[in-house]
Amino acid sequence: MSPPDFFHQGDLVAVLTTQPLGRALDYRAPEGGCHPGAFVEVPLGPRKVLGVVWGPGKGDYDLSKIRHVIRVLDVAPMRAEMQAFLTRAAAYTLTPLPAMLRLATRAPGLGDPPSMRKVYRRGAAEPDRMTDARRRVLATLDEYGDLSFTLKELAEMAGVTSSVVKGLVKQGAVTEENSPRDLPFPPLDPDLPGKDLTEDQARAAAQLAEGVRSESYGTTLLRGVTGSGKTEVYLEAVAAALQAGRQALVLLPEIALTEQFLTRVQERFGAKPAEWHSGATMTERRRIWRMVGQGQAQLVIGARSALFLPFQNLGLIVVDEEHDTSYKQEDGVLYNARDMAVLRAAICGAQVVLASATPSLESWANVEAGKYHKLELTSRFGPAVMPQMGAIDMRAEGLPADRWVSPTLQKEVTARLERGEQAMLFINRRGYAPVTLCRACGHQIGCDHCDARMVEHRFLKRLICHQCGESKPMPEVCPACGAEGRLAPVGPGVERLGEEAAAIWPEARIATLSSDMYGSARALKAEIAGIAEGAADIIIGTQLVAKGHNFPKLTLVGVIDADLGLMGSDLRAAERTFQLMRQVAGRAGRAEAPGTALLQTYQPEHPVIRAILAGDEEAFWAAEARERQQAGVPPYGRMAGIILSGPDVAQIFDAGNLLARQDMPLRRIGAQVYGPAPAPIARIRGRHRVRLLVKADKGAPLQEALATWVAQVKLKGEMRLAVDIDPQSFY
Ligand code: ADP
Ligand code: ZN
Repeated sequence: MSPPDFFHQGDLVAVLTTQPLGRALDYRAPEGGCHPGAFVEVPLGPRKVLGVVWGPGKGDYDLSKIRHVIRVLDVAPMRAEMQAFLTRAAAYTLTPLPAMLRLATRAPGLGDPPSMRKVYRRGAAEPDRMTDARRRVLATLDEYGDLSFTLKELAEMAGVTSSVVKGLVKQGAVTEENSPRDLPFPPLDPDLPGKDLTEDQARAAAQLAEGVRSESYGTTLLRGVTGSGKTEVYLEAVAAALQAGRQALVLLPEIALTEQFLTRVQERFGAKPAEWHSGATMTERRRIWRMVGQGQAQLVIGARSALFLPFQNLGLIVVDEEHDTSYKQEDGVLYNARDMAVLRAAICGAQVVLASATPSLESWANVEAGKYHKLELTSRFGPAVMPQMGAIDMRAEGLPADRWVSPTLQKEVTARLERGEQAMLFINRRGYAPVTLCRACGHQIGCDHCDARMVEHRFLKRLICHQCGESKPMPEVCPACGAEGRLAPVGPGVERLGEEAAAIWPEARIATLSSDMYGSARALKAEIAGIAEGAADIIIGTQLVAKGHNFPKLTLVGVIDADLGLMGSDLRAAERTFQLMRQVAGRAGRAEAPGTALLQTYQPEHPVIRAILAGDEEAFWAAEARERQQAGVPPYGRMAGIILSGPDVAQIFDAGNLLARQDMPLRRIGAQVYGPAPAPIARIRGRHRVRLLVKADKGAPLQEALATWVAQVKLKGEMRLAVDIDPQSFY
């Protein structure tokens, strides 16, 4: 029996709320009835909460106690495909459905009636007396014809106080009216001409557009070096979606969501798209959520969570920089936006484009397995070529212990500065120094709540824990032995490198880019835009600068410590290092001047370093794939991480051991458990952490087995258990 398409007053309905109850609860449909998927307000104990009519009620509860839905909210009902998406995403990530629903309703005041605001236009009457200020107001309005303004906008543009405008309203020369705050987004025009594409680009664009027009599911990996025109190409796929009357979503890593990018989209389609990111105001979030739901936002450019917006007719999802680790949410609901994009598209018959210069091994393997198509852009657009790559063997440089720029690198940077070009020094470490050591007793200052050392941030004048964010002022004396003036920084961070550069090149304009040095993402982006236009000679940066920015004058990148990423126990360490180094190198030589990338390393013979230098991506991936295949790890096998945490270390170890012993549900599918062991970071925010790893064959029904398995332990008190499917990081 197919589900009913309407519930009449008094019918039993199951309502899913965002409260952690584990299941939908029965209610009676309100006066006037409701559609399945309707957003409603329901009583829950003494409170009123937001919910969605998930389907017919179960009727397994005392019928006399069932309460009525309070009201149906004035927003588009959740579509069946969105319900299916949330249900399957919950099952895949082993997340309770209410937590999934919370992701899909992250906009404030959804249920409020559309709020109104006052707007101002030119009225029919003339003022009795004309003043200079009044004339400016009327001239401003005349200049913009039919447009209306808020009081603040109008007063600012005319350079008058708001009382001048109010005075004109009294006289009828200006009208004041109420207008809804949640305005639709201006229509985009997909028929405006795009750039003239190269043959390569045109072929790729045509294939993507054809996929979109098929109105069916498909995923394509769009691979090409930075600057090869991937963005130009996928914007053509967006155009095809808009032409077909469908919506499109472009996901970007948060930091790549720049004004530069939005301007490009605006140039292509004649108006700005909706922009969904953490910096958006609450009003703007609400507007986007509602307009996407009504089909009045055709294109959304957004960070990871935009995937959970209520699209009505989604035809295309682009995941730009698909390898980027920021797509994996590491807090709360643990999901990978790239994988969830594929799931969502499969359910609603949309196309997915995964764009990257350095695809993840997962996507690579899916292409090999025939699950994804692949399109390649083989060269950079225009005259720019890939940078020359070289290693600086640090063993031969004889560098003093507290210096990080080798003589060879120094010479190369100086040569660039003399030619009026930009150089970049890259180090993937925030702060001033990663370790603060007492030279008297050897004590290293650690976080009180975590199993981590505190990082000195001289710019902020504090020590900060990069795990939990805890910070404290730099102490005068050693907290262990009390010696005065003996605390010393050990190792480089981006700030310290900036100091060294200033000493070497006192004349140069040096810009240090690190996320914590700017109050907001916007300030940081503005800074980056300035640098791109030439406001700095030397750019010193962390991984931030590796993402999607265009520095046309940059011709040299020096990687201070290419070995940094190769240490550590992460199975993706080599992959990460490879991608990061390639991207950083890709920053050099984007315009006319050819670029050079130099890697400072103590192990130039390491296979990853060699593959980077040779530019031999295929060889690197082939070797990496072989190793993972042999080890039976992702993407050739399945893995899940289980983290048990709590204040009592013995208690969580007991629970971990119990799980490890009661592994029947896992053995039934041929999966193995490793651990429990202390997690690589054994304590965060005062909570101890114990980790188990589960490995299974590619085809094994891992989620069901895991669910049965973990249900065997009772979590006592403040103990928590988190399951991370396909873990990206192993902390
Ligand atoms: P990617 O996304 O692969 O890094 P982009 O699409 O950003 O590459 O292209 C790099 C630069 O080259 C951009 O400034 C873009 O506008 C320009 N470009 C790419 N293809 C063309 C083209 N066919 N005609 C004109 N400019 C192009
Ligand atoms: Zn800490």
